[in-house]
Amino acid sequence: MSSVYELETADLAAHLADQPRYRVEQLWRGLWDEGLPFTDITTVPKALRQRLTEAFPPSLEVANEVASDLGATRKWVFRLHDGATIETVLMNYADRVTVCVSSQAGCAMGCTFCATGQAGFSRQLSVGEVIEQVMFAARAAAPRRLSNVVFMGMGEPLANYPVTVGVIKRLHEYRAMSARHLTVSTVGVAPAIERLASEGLPLTLAVSLHAANNDTRNELVPLNRRYPLERLYEACEKWLATTSRRLSFEWALIDGVNDSDVAMRELAEYAGDLHAHVNLIPLNPTPGYLVKGSRSERVHEFRLGLEDLGINATVRNTRGRSIDAACGQLAAVTNGHKTRVTLRSR
Ligand code: SAH
Ligand code: SF4
Repeated sequence: MSSVYELETADLAAHLADQPRYRVEQLWRGLWDEGLPFTDITTVPKALRQRLTEAFPPSLEVANEVASDLGATRKWVFRLHDGATIETVLMNYADRVTVCVSSQAGCAMGCTFCATGQAGFSRQLSVGEVIEQVMFAARAAAPRRLSNVVFMGMGEPLANYPVTVGVIKRLHEYRAMSARHLTVSTVGVAPAIERLASEGLPLTLAVSLHAANNDTRNELVPLNRRYPLERLYEACEKWLATTSRRLSFEWALIDGVNDSDVAMRELAEYAGDLHAHVNLIPLNPTPGYLVKGSRSERVHEFRLGLEDLGINATVRNTRGRSIDAACGQLAAVTNGHKTRVTLRSR
């Protein structure tokens, strides 16, 4: 089943051969600039809207919606045509509106501290299924304009490489989103980072590091056995040399696991030569990983310690934690056990 967001203008024109030529442009603008489903593109006749909706039914059906932070954070569980479920999170900040999209239903990487990894892999998403998440969030964000897209939902975007690149190119070309406002977060698929560097897209790359020694990283991120820190480093160097774009490292602070002074120095050494920015995330709770996140005083100390070692570091606030919408908490469990607050604002 293909999504209208996978069409080029010529494909859309082919479906509209019996229509005046300006219809293509009207529909294209409605779809891409305004992010509307056909049914809401009221500049074109109703019969045509109906025909197009039948030809290209929406890929996402809302299975659940929850909100927190006084409505500033909203999470949707979407059911796809084959019953697979994914989650999408919209975050309103003072200076930007960000959507966190899923790139896969589930994830095969098995990071121990991540709810998606604990639940396992269902399937790859298509370009249309990812773009429709963006457009759904864009409509929900109105009247504010959606400004940022981060691939930090369910799945490993670089394990669904053609789709990730396809989505980025389309958002950049057809929705005129600045590639700088598009962030791909990866667990560290080294060859795919190198390939992404050669695409010529000035996007932001975040690498989920979490440990800068192989023993600890092997435990947290099983993919480290395949692409250990030395190999990942080479890929990061290539990323910098090819794109000149800043790199950031994600580091979920876990009590007694990766929050010691030794861990801090290892990180500073690894990040220093790459001029990487470090994003510290206090570990969010997940059912399958009983170790706790670092205490907030330790998070604060760790950040200051990194700064003293010359590393630029920020602490990411854990938006949506109370509704399991924060980093690593997405598991699309729709049976009512995980979701606590249900709000219907549409
Ligand atoms: N697969 C990609 C993107 C999705 S995960 C990746 O791993 O980068 C998005 C981010 O959430 C990653 O930085 C990941 O390490 C982090 N994360 C996973 N589980 C977490 C948890 N329980 N607490 C905090 N961050 C977590
Ligand atoms: Fe997959 Fe990222 Fe979770 Fe690891 S942290 S299991 S790569 S979604």
